[in-house]
Amino acid sequence: MSSLDVLFRPRAVAVIGASRDRRSVGGAILHNLLTFEFQGQVFPVNPNAAVVHSLKCYASVEDIPDAVDLAVIAVPKPHALAALESCGRKRIGAVVMITAGFKETGAAGLALEREVVRIIKQYDIRLVGPNCMGVINMDPAVRLQASFSDNEPIPGSVAFSSQSGALGEAILALLRERGLGLSMFVSLGNKADVSGNDLLEYWEADPQTRVILMYLESFGNPQRFLEICQRVSKKKPIIAVKSGRTAAGARAAASHTGSLAGADNAVESLFAQSGVIRATSIEELFVFATAFASQPVPAGTRVGIVTNSGGPAILATDACIELGLQIPTLSPETQGLIRAAVAPEASVTNPVDMIATAEAPQYEASIRAVAEDPGVDALVVIFTSLEMIDGPSVAQGIVRGASGCQKPILVCFMGNVRSREAIDLMRGAGLAVYTFPEDAARALAALVRHGHWLARPTGRRRAFSDISSSAIDAIISGARAEGRCQLTLAEAQRVLEHAGIPVLPWREVRSRDEAVAAAAELGSPIVAKVSSSLIVHKSEVGGVRVGLTSAEAAGTAYVAMTQAAATRDPRTTLVLQQQALHGTEVILGATRDPKFGPLLMFGLGGIFVEVLKDVAFRVHPLSDLDAREMIRAVKGFPLLDGARGRPPADLAALEQVILRLDRLMALCPAIAELDVNPLFAGPPGSPTAAADARITLQDAG
Ligand code: ADP
Ligand code: MG
Repeated sequence: MSSLDVLFRPRAVAVIGASRDRRSVGGAILHNLLTFEFQGQVFPVNPNAAVVHSLKCYASVEDIPDAVDLAVIAVPKPHALAALESCGRKRIGAVVMITAGFKETGAAGLALEREVVRIIKQYDIRLVGPNCMGVINMDPAVRLQASFSDNEPIPGSVAFSSQSGALGEAILALLRERGLGLSMFVSLGNKADVSGNDLLEYWEADPQTRVILMYLESFGNPQRFLEICQRVSKKKPIIAVKSGRTAAGARAAASHTGSLAGADNAVESLFAQSGVIRATSIEELFVFATAFASQPVPAGTRVGIVTNSGGPAILATDACIELGLQIPTLSPETQGLIRAAVAPEASVTNPVDMIATAEAPQYEASIRAVAEDPGVDALVVIFTSLEMIDGPSVAQGIVRGASGCQKPILVCFMGNVRSREAIDLMRGAGLAVYTFPEDAARALAALVRHGHWLARPTGRRRAFSDISSSAIDAIISGARAEGRCQLTLAEAQRVLEHAGIPVLPWREVRSRDEAVAAAAELGSPIVAKVSSSLIVHKSEVGGVRVGLTSAEAAGTAYVAMTQAAATRDPRTTLVLQQQALHGTEVILGATRDPKFGPLLMFGLGGIFVEVLKDVAFRVHPLSDLDAREMIRAVKGFPLLDGARGRPPADLAALEQVILRLDRLMALCPAIAELDVNPLFAGPPGSPTAAADARITLQDAG
């Protein structure tokens, strides 16, 4: 038993604010409960009526003689809290609070919403809303339509949660129009109690639900979302539209990572790591849902196209190729089977163009032959309606050809000669039907990506017990004691070393003599750089000299560079460091998003990050697989993998650095932002080590 059963499977429902006027919210909800044939008892509550809708009406829920599981509160705000209290006294387990005027309206509303939360805690009530449209459960054993939506959904396997009431209504209407059947619907409203995460867990176990759709505006608890979705998405596809941007985008950032993060990276990463299929628009949500609700995931990327006209098949081919799918040549056996069934002018390669005369038998035979070709993983079937061909009869041919097929079949039905009838027929037979070939291709590509996710192992998280957080804390406290939020280069490099991240051998020196001695130890060539909390971009102010080849030169550099920097910071010291002679420069970084927590970044250095912004993000906590995929997600990855005769980088070592940075961010909440730029990614056997580090602390507040 889940604590949400009382919400979704109540035996008795009270509608507080039920009125005779169907145009009022309470009136509409009562009407919906009754006309939708709710399988339990319904009690109208309204102190100003004795009877509503032929039902005896009660002045308060506390007057109802029977037990009540769910109350829908649809009274004006001034009465809402009292109504909630009486639900508590009546021991009602779940409340849907339609009433608006809470958190969404500002400070006074927020205080009222806190009051709501206090009351539901006191009485142990599960609450949806406030400021929502209601809930629907299509299970024939329940038939709960406790929303004021006018739409009558078709029963089916799609569960849908919406953070926006109005969009929820629009999406319910579209579901119906596209022939998509609903299992449950929840308008979440302000999420004072029941959250999207709660629903994901409930639907995970709900036998009616096969596909989960979400319209999201915010994440209450991103880390929990990640954890739940990683598990649920392996069982049921989760398709989400997320609107809005993260707060990090608006923040001024001291680090490179900070300025590149923000906008949408956190959401994009969160979805990628959790297996959530992201739709970029409501329209795409439907394109994907249509396929996921009816089609299996393909075993591979090879698509067979069957059509009666050339143009749409070319569009389908282009779209498939662009999305990484393949259009392979069909086997000779398949071609022979098709040839025997179609007109002599037809083309039997791939796409199979049966030409305009094709009717039901040609569709049936060609689809069956292509579906049975072991070199094909999925089918796109295109019909362009023509005056002389009967659409519904072709649809029947398509259904017969597809019957028993274990591969996804996506149909594009273009034109309008009795197409409604034809489309309903195919949908009824469990096919995914689209108008445009590009939509079918997009949906197929999403199915393929989801197939990869299903095959992907979960990955492992590393604890790195060797990281010395006390030593790091000491460095941070030292900076804090001086009122600084910026660490010096030397401090930042020490932090990396305590986190187990290799840094090219280096020394911090405070005099000419120390510089000479250190240079003799470090060898040649070396790099000299200024270390100061006030100089963030060293090379911009002449604070980096590379290629020093003698101890004497290091001594000279000490004098010149510290003198030049003294105007900015008289306490500037010098860092001497071995110069990397091999390896590719990469950038690694982390920021702390106020909502999402640590956000890790990886990219290639130089122009790749500066100009092309070719970087990949992941949200904390990362698994070893996340780190692996993150490195491979940047477009410049081939340069690390031996392209153009370069020695391949030690990718395992690079993954370790990313995972250690992720751990460092978790262990040291004082770190706001961090850049390692560059880190030299050497080939296996030679060092993978940082050459520069920048760390900004959180405002002490
Ligand atoms: P900043 O980013 O503050 O300007 P860096 O320490 O990153 O200073 O140095 C600037 C550039 O100099 C680096 O991007 C890198 O190309 C080069 N460089 C710095 N340190 C080394 C090193 N130890 N070995 C080789 N090249 C280095
Ligand atoms: Mg740098």
